[in-house]
Order: sequence, then C-alpha cells, then structure tokens
Amino acid sequence: MAQNTIASVSVDLDAIACYWRIHALPGAPPEEARRLILRRCLPRFGELFARAGVKATFFVVGQDLADDPEGARRLAELAADGHELANHSFTHPYDLVRHPAAGIASEIDRAHEAIGACAGHGPVGFRAPGYTLSAEVLDLLCARAYRYDSSAFPSLPYYAAKTAVMAAMRLMRRPSGSYLGSPSVVTAPLGPYRPAQGSPYRRGTLPIVELPMAVTPVLRLHVIGTSVVTFPEWLRRRMVAAALRRPFFNLELHGIDLADAAADGFPAALVARQPDLRRPLATKWTALERTLNEAQARGAVFQTLAQAVAALEASLSSG
Ligand SMILES: [Zn+2]
Repeated sequence: MAQNTIASVSVDLDAIACYWRIHALPGAPPEEARRLILRRCLPRFGELFARAGVKATFFVVGQDLADDPEGARRLAELAADGHELANHSFTHPYDLVRHPAAGIASEIDRAHEAIGACAGHGPVGFRAPGYTLSAEVLDLLCARAYRYDSSAFPSLPYYAAKTAVMAAMRLMRRPSGSYLGSPSVVTAPLGPYRPAQGSPYRRGTLPIVELPMAVTPVLRLHVIGTSVVTFPEWLRRRMVAAALRRPFFNLELHGIDLADAAADGFPAALVARQPDLRRPLATKWTALERTLNEAQARGAVFQTLAQAVAALEASLSSG
C-alpha cells in the first residue's frame, strides 16, 4: 500500500489580522494579540515536529518578519534546523489575483527578500493567500524560477462551504474579507502536476510544479489542519487513512491550529467565530501528532515541500 508515499506537512503562519478580515470584525485586532501566532503557536509546532522527527515547511507572510523580530528569530532557528521557509506573500491580500501584475510581483518579491534574509537563502515555493491562484501568479513565479506552488485546494465540500458562508455574510451586510476564486479549482488534479499555460488547474508544461492540498479520493474531503483538529476522532482517522492512499500526502496546517485560546489571550470576538479556537489545545495537539504518526506508520517519510518536489519531479513529464 502506501509504502512509497511522500509526505509533507506545511504551516501557513497567517497572523490574527487575517482572521479578523475573514470574519469582518470591526477595526483592527488588539495590539497584544497581533503577534500571537509567531510568539505562542510557532514554538509549539517546532516541538511537535521535533518529537515526530519531521522537517516541515512554514509559509511566512513577509511583513510579519519586520513587525516581530522575536518571531523572525524563531523562524531563522527553525530554518537553521532544516525546516523550510516559503513565500506566503508580503501582506496576505485575499484578493491577490485581482491586483495588477505589478502589485502581484511586488507581493512576491518583497516577501522573497524578507524571507531570504531570515532563512539565509531565498524561498523556492509559494502559497497564495486564501488558496486563490491565477495564471498570472504562476507566470510570475515561473519568471522567478520558483520550483513549486502549493495553492490548489481541489475540495468540493470546502469550496461549497466557503461560498455559502460568504453569501450569508453578504446578506448580513458584513462582507468577509476573504475572496472566492474560480470554481474550476474543484476539478484540479489531486496529485502533483505541471500546470498549463493560462490554466492553473489543468495539466500542462509550465516549468513549475503545483502541489495540491490533501483531499480524500472520490469525495474530495479536505484533510487540512482545520478538519484534523475539529472532526471527531473516528472521522479524522478514516480521512487521513484515505488521503494516505494517494502517492503524495500534502498536509496543510495553520499556525492557529495549535492555539490555546484562553492561555494565549486570543480575543473573545475571534474565539466566538472560530470553532477550532474553542477546542482544548491538548485535543488539537493529539489529533495532529496522531496524524503524523499514522502517516509514518504507513511508510510515509515527511520531507519539506522543496525536498518533496525534487523527488516528485522525476515522475512528472517535464516541460
Ligand atoms: Zn494564509
């Protein structure tokens, strides 16, 4: 069975301000909450991965490095320890794909520079804010010789739920700061592929590899941190087992997945809107640790996405 499964785990380090925008909360997050993800959650991921013997990929929002030198120092330590730092844009604009080309290029380049200075070498991978990809974004990444993009999220249930929530928020005259991308994402290949010129969700010959997020075969249920830490244990285990039947297991987490809402001081307005923030840290930690261990028990070897793409490229037709 999954004896040769290549596995990667990545953590998107979206700051509290990102969730503030998604839930259309008024004003800005309280000053003391702004840096919670890098200060409180990031060290827990370092410990979780050390215990599991896993090297991971952290998707970093460029501006957070200048905003939090202490958080930047922790990330530099993780990079020195063999983890990968990758590009998650400079300011995390959910509507990145609607920006003019120069604006998209600036988001990629400013983050590239900040993350490169932190890690000691420039990133080779990108993940778009809110999973929203466009042909223009891919062209800009190719022009910069990026090895991979990991933004495609081909989950129909996730796309349907996001559409419904955003429609409900519009009805309540509280439009979400999130952005709904093209529905063609739900038809994207489930495994790694070279995208087509002009069609990010179709196979082609672009000199970059797209690494879609893990979903289960057939039903395309999303196997990401949010589902791993909030679903009942029996369902989590079955979904992980199903996703592990594919040759590449791309587990995507968020920094907020290891939040301890009360002890960390997460704002009550956010806790009221994010169900995962109301789960005890110990429960979430166990669910994530079990997921890593179950993958390893099935023969999966965790690598950073940069390492995984090198191994996967051989099996993809080159451009
Ligand atoms: Zn993000």
